[in-house]
Amino acid sequence: MNKVHNLKKYLTLKNGFKLICGANNENYFEIEKLVALYSKAGCKFFDINASFDAYKAAINGLKYSNCFDSEHFICISVGTDDDMHFKKCAIDFNNCTHCAKCKEICPQKAINDFKIDEKKCIGCLLCFENCPTGAIKPYKTDNDFDELFSLFSLVDCIEFHISSSDVVEIKQKWNKIISNYNGLISICINRSVFSEKNTIDLLNELIVQYPYTMIQADGKPMSGNINDYNTTLQAVAFADLIRKSKISCPLYVSGGTNSKTKELLKLFSIDVNGISIGSYARKIVKKYIDRDDFLSNRKVFEEALNIAKDFTNGILN
Ligand code: SF4
Ligand code: SF4
Repeated sequence: MNKVHNLKKYLTLKNGFKLICGANNENYFEIEKLVALYSKAGCKFFDINASFDAYKAAINGLKYSNCFDSEHFICISVGTDDDMHFKKCAIDFNNCTHCAKCKEICPQKAINDFKIDEKKCIGCLLCFENCPTGAIKPYKTDNDFDELFSLFSLVDCIEFHISSSDVVEIKQKWNKIISNYNGLISICINRSVFSEKNTIDLLNELIVQYPYTMIQADGKPMSGNINDYNTTLQAVAFADLIRKSKISCPLYVSGGTNSKTKELLKLFSIDVNGISIGSYARKIVKKYIDRDDFLSNRKVFEEALNIAKDFTNGILN
């Protein structure tokens, strides 16, 4: 069976799991380690930064776990210019009082000596939201995917992030993708951007032009750091809205997803095909992943694997 067939089949499941390594995560060694760990734990679908380096890292991770085959899928993320998934942060030294709150809260451990490591920063904006002096400045990263068309041919899925209300830009970028790609497209749309009606109208309009599409209902982007019901509520409510609209393509949820998401979806009888999880799935194994010897120290890898397996099994079963 070929890979396209396998991916289509995977999307018919009701309990898929996509690991989000971070749309803007350029820490390539971390990507390799996350993919190695979670593929070994049973995850088959991986969402990474749109770059050749991230792609190579993901392939290395799959090879490490003997999962480089037609049953494991790689998705890259592109998006509209203002999409928060493509921001990073910097510190304005003139306003910084060295309180270290940003360092304490950063899930990526990207802040050291009051400097933000651009490669490690994923733009979650937690430092920005918690800085008492307004010293954290978000900035846009280069999100021009015209140069990535040769990467398109290598991957199984392109995720198109929509969190801008600029419909002209959305349609221009959508047309560029569908003119240069013939694999699966995941539309990851942010719940807070449009009214409910405009969201559904836009999705219908895009999907009719390219039917090999899945939707990722993004409740509150990059907010899944806490493992409670409230954190995952927006994602679940957004999935409910899309299901009630009768749009029939495969549906995943993201944005605040954690170990409670599946339970909440079940409680409200919301029928999705899978859950995409980033922040929380990375957080539970972070202390292992951060080790330089993660892939060479069998004991460390196995400890992390037990945690990743428990988590993955909870979603897949
Ligand atoms: S939270 Fe703000 S003021 Fe405190 S160390 Fe970070 S940048 Fe400086
Ligand atoms: S808290 Fe988020 S936005 Fe701030 S430096 Fe860390 S990863 Fe980047």
